[in-house]
Amino acid sequence: MICTHCWATSIKPYKDVSKHWNNPRDTSYVCSKECYKELMQALKDGTWMEWNSKQKANVPKKSALDKKK
Ligand SMILES: [Zn+2]
Repeated sequence: MICTHCWATSIKPYKDVSKHWNNPRDTSYVCSKECYKELMQALKDGTWMEWNSKQKANVPKKSALDKKK
């Protein structure tokens, strides 16, 4: 399970946000109240498709993956 807003992995789902993307239930979640609030704001502003600072922090780093090889 990945948080739709901050991309954190292995989250405990806080809220099902699937309906905001017209997705079937149980497909999209946020991990916290904070993420839910920020996501709703982003949907309102039309900025949800842009990267937010939280996502950048959780994106798998290429260098880290390369090191494992
Ligand atoms: Zn989150």
